[in-house]
Amino acid sequence: MRAIIAGAGPAGFACAKWLTDRGYEVVLLEKRDVPGGKVSAWRDEDGDWVESGLHVFFGAYRNLLSFLDECELQDCFDWKPSEMVFASPEHGQTSIRFVPWLPPPINGLAGVATTKLIGLPDKARMALGLTRPIFGNQAYIDAQDEQTYAAWHLRHGMGEHSLRGVMDTMALALNFQDTNNVSAKLPLTAMLHFAQQPGAAKMGAIKGSPHERLWVPLIDKLEARGVQVLLNHKVTEILYDEMNNRITGFLLDDGSTITGDIYISAMPVHSLRKTIPAALKAQPYFDNLKHLKGQPVITAQLYFDRMVTHVDNLIFSAHSHISVYADLPRISPDYTKYPGSVIELVVAPAEKLINQDDETVLEQILGDFYRLHPEAREAKLTKYTLVRIPNSVYQARPGVDKYRPDQASPVPNFFLTGDYTQQEFMASIEGAIRSAKRTIERIDRVGVEVQEIAAEV
Ligand SMILES: Cc1cc2nc3c(=O)[nH]c(=O)nc-3n(C[C@H](O)[C@H](O)[C@H](O)COP(=O)(O)OP(=O)(O)OC[C@H]3O[C@@H](n4cnc5c(N)ncnc54)[C@H](O)[C@@H]3O)c2cc1C
Repeated sequence: MRAIIAGAGPAGFACAKWLTDRGYEVVLLEKRDVPGGKVSAWRDEDGDWVESGLHVFFGAYRNLLSFLDECELQDCFDWKPSEMVFASPEHGQTSIRFVPWLPPPINGLAGVATTKLIGLPDKARMALGLTRPIFGNQAYIDAQDEQTYAAWHLRHGMGEHSLRGVMDTMALALNFQDTNNVSAKLPLTAMLHFAQQPGAAKMGAIKGSPHERLWVPLIDKLEARGVQVLLNHKVTEILYDEMNNRITGFLLDDGSTITGDIYISAMPVHSLRKTIPAALKAQPYFDNLKHLKGQPVITAQLYFDRMVTHVDNLIFSAHSHISVYADLPRISPDYTKYPGSVIELVVAPAEKLINQDDETVLEQILGDFYRLHPEAREAKLTKYTLVRIPNSVYQARPGVDKYRPDQASPVPNFFLTGDYTQQEFMASIEGAIRSAKRTIERIDRVGVEVQEIAAEV
């Protein structure tokens, strides 16, 4: 059996690995000249790494961690201290420290109890208001999808202070939008997973560029097992035989067609929509994809001639253009060769900035960064890079969750995978790996049927 996968991001790679385990011949197509999708990195003209996004792993990423174990890549990242560091011009740097010897969720609640981010009355109201999601179940959380998180928070007796002081930061880090826009389901899902699993909140960062630490070693392993990873191979159309209701090939941008027995789209939803043939577009399963819109985000890297931070961890922020950032030489051993700080920032919300010129974007980000780290004004900015991603993760807005597709499409030999498809987690690397797991379960389920159809043709 031959499987053709379009998209070499985390979900595409996981499908490739697990299908090879099952004896499939696998071809993995990627439109770009670098693998990794939203977790990719490439070198600029100076030989420095440009990353598509600052990526953090959590202890809650059980599927990702076990996938890395399976691929013998468990050493590609370092765990950081179990705390969330927040920066704001008003409070400076403050953190929520998870108490390691207490069981979840008490460890997190104890951390919130000691933070300077909000006052005592707000802490008490949060502890009461969040009881239901923290001790609850996914069914309750799923039912909250039609409202914004801000509406849910205020309705449950928690005030504006905790909304703006803590929860906006969390929503921005999770979906690059604040709580006035994001569905209540998203932060509540994160809280449920993080509150109920031991060690879920600990954070890890890749030891260097994801390209060198993750994708190159993974490709080597997959190629040694016969997987063909073809970069610069863009799928332009999914070829469909309406009479027999089956996919017959992927048309590529060089005009050639690649064929197999089963086909998997591991492309982001906006790219998938461009390749769906007219005969399938009208079907509700495919038509519903139009509700899943990508969220714009910008990744910036600022190079300074000296160290301007002291934190070996991610730093969260809100109410500026910066949502999460880290000093790469502090968090990743491969970046220590730089003499000064290399601050990688996730710029969100980015709707207003994404179409501005580089100088304007830089001016805004630098202004915000200097307000958070006034000492950086003394340092010289020696270089910067900006990566604009107009369609990053899907916008988890109220009412959108129901449009996320199952991995099995109405076409028996065509499957979807990727963080936007139905899975229990938010759009993330863990979500992508979970989606791949579900895709493989669907393929296993219909595998025999597809084999029979392939034999008949
Ligand atoms: C700035 C930023 C920061 C992030 N931070 C985190 C984080 O800290 N932790 C976390 O868990 N997640 C984070 N994420 C989210 C995470 O990167 C994504 O959820 C994850 O990469 C999704 O994986 P995927 O395989 O579903 O899709 P993608 O990573 O988008 O991969 C899809 C692949 O398909 C390819 N493709 C597209 N069109 C075609 C075509 N026509 N033909 C062939 N190939 C095609 C793309 O080039 C890409 O390589 C972040 C995302 C961004 C943008």
